[in-house]
Amino acid sequence: MQSLERYERQLRIEGWRQDKISESTIMVIGVGAIGCEVAKNLTLMGIGKLIIVDNDVVEVSNLSRQMLFTDEDVGRPKTLAAKEKLVKMNPWVKIDQYYKDVRELDSDVFREAVVVCSCLDNWPVRRWVNSMCIELDKPLVDVAMDGLYANLQVVLPGKTACLECHGEDLIPKEIQLAECTLRRRKPEDLRRDLEEQKIYVSLELVEKLFEIGVKTIFDIKYSQAQMLEKLDEVSRNKIREIQELLKPKMPALQSIAATIAGLASTEILKILHGEALGKILDGLLVYDGYSSKLTKVKLKRKNECFVCGDYVKTDNIEINVNPDDRVLDLKKKIAETFGFPDPEILYKKWRLEDDQILREVGIKDGEIAYVETSRRFTPLPLKLVFKT
Ligand SMILES: [Zn+2]
Repeated sequence: MQSLERYERQLRIEGWRQDKISESTIMVIGVGAIGCEVAKNLTLMGIGKLIIVDNDVVEVSNLSRQMLFTDEDVGRPKTLAAKEKLVKMNPWVKIDQYYKDVRELDSDVFREAVVVCSCLDNWPVRRWVNSMCIELDKPLVDVAMDGLYANLQVVLPGKTACLECHGEDLIPKEIQLAECTLRRRKPEDLRRDLEEQKIYVSLELVEKLFEIGVKTIFDIKYSQAQMLEKLDEVSRNKIREIQELLKPKMPALQSIAATIAGLASTEILKILHGEALGKILDGLLVYDGYSSKLTKVKLKRKNECFVCGDYVKTDNIEINVNPDDRVLDLKKKIAETFGFPDPEILYKKWRLEDDQILREVGIKDGEIAYVETSRRFTPLPLKLVFKT
């Protein structure tokens, strides 16, 4: 039994319940600058269990702001190095670490967590985590930074806005554009795109990538590790090198990470306390380090949101189609409407081919098809309404 002496000062806080903290499991996705800080905060405060997830190894350029790592950790999985440091900070905290892509984790691991804290640096995976949290009804604390700016959003499924409710305003325009464009191109296009980034590869390699469904630079960056397993070893190693070159290099600063992670950790505590520590942030909090300003942006949950809207579960989302259209036309429309660049259409027990005609497949007016995409945890049901 651990002594409460360790927590003596925080126990003095009005409304504080150490039992709620020590009984809870929190998942921290992404152990970068912000993730390190959140994991450290929760560990010091005596959280019951932490689940940390990251598929990266420590690099020298991480050491200026990822406070759980030291020079000796360079080249080691971040989750392993982080766990070692965290256990030293508080041996009473149980820590499960997963050195893998969060999208490859078993959903039972998510079910264990009371709150999920997403500290990721890219939108495709943030969107996936958002959809997973809505599906499993888990509160999500999403944190991100860009130079001297940072933001924090709390998503209470069914109560507050999710990341997609205001996606058109919150997701940067160039990412929206990339997300809304159906990935149907030729290997030569990908090779040319890479050349523009001064990365030179053989046509043979890009053809191999196309075979496994990797068709754009965006795909190379954000493909799940298991997809690349399908490649031979030489090609796979080459792709890993390219991924390294393409890694997002956003400006980032330790002090900003610590600031926003501190605010995020407090919101996690408030969720665990059921508001006994004050009202949980509703919406978005934006920190601007240049002007020392903290702004609260009220976000209304949208009932017509295709991720968290209530009617998605009851009436399904409708999309107008021409029965004489090809499956590819439907996919294009889905990409534009929902920002799913890689939709697959599941109808009855089939996965439809691009050049099939909707009417010939046997689809009838008002029938449901399912859209599978790497941007969602589960396929999206879609009612196909024929244009008259
Ligand atoms: Zn939503």
